[in-house]
Amino acid sequence: MRKFVIMGVQGSGKGTQSELLCGDLDLVHISVGDIFRWNVKNHTKLGAQVRRTMAAGELVSDDLVESVVRDRLHRHDWNYGFVVDGFPRNGRQAEFFMESFDIDGVIHLELAEDEVRRRVLSRRLCPNCGMDYNLIADRPRLEGRCDICGHELVTRPDDTPEALEARLRDYHEKTRPVLELFGRKEVVHDIDASPTADEVQQTIRDALRLPPYKPVAQNS
Ligand code: AMP
Repeated sequence: MRKFVIMGVQGSGKGTQSELLCGDLDLVHISVGDIFRWNVKNHTKLGAQVRRTMAAGELVSDDLVESVVRDRLHRHDWNYGFVVDGFPRNGRQAEFFMESFDIDGVIHLELAEDEVRRRVLSRRLCPNCGMDYNLIADRPRLEGRCDICGHELVTRPDDTPEALEARLRDYHEKTRPVLELFGRKEVVHDIDASPTADEVQQTIRDALRLPPYKPVAQNS
């Protein structure tokens, strides 16, 4: 059983690295942001509760987030383990998490702020199938269209310059202290997130002493 938390500033590649890590290791990727986005897209009650907060780039209340994480982890569909992405984001959430689960490692993706802005503001999302793109490093084959389902790509409502500033402020004020908390109890691995996704993945695997990463050949 492998239980990891992935942390890092917006745009540092938490989602991408979680997916690469989960793929061949049979881990389950638990992204709190994805759970919320799914609920917003499907107009659920939870979606209605978080939609405005998310669009403004602000944090959802701890009570709500903790109940979503508790429900998700109690589903126990993660026989081989999980990668939690986007949680915990403040001291209270970290205490809640550490009381309930033992963690094998915390992956901390580090990225300079000018690169964060460059990456986040060029991010695009398929609202239909959830596929992520980046106009710098990971362009869709056909401009503005999803490679998988052909739907028109959109900008995430919280990827505006204003919302990004709010998220960066929260990250530095509230989320960075979580790393100090984890640093006392768990093993925090600081990983440079600036190389390519494949290189970053290999560095993560080396740091966590996991089986080597086998990149999937790119379709041209
Ligand atoms: P993410 O995709 O991780 O950047 O999350 C998108 C948005 O979901 C955040 O900007 C918050 O509004 C909300 N969110 C996700 N995770 C949390 C969390 N742990 N605590 C509070 N809000 C969260």
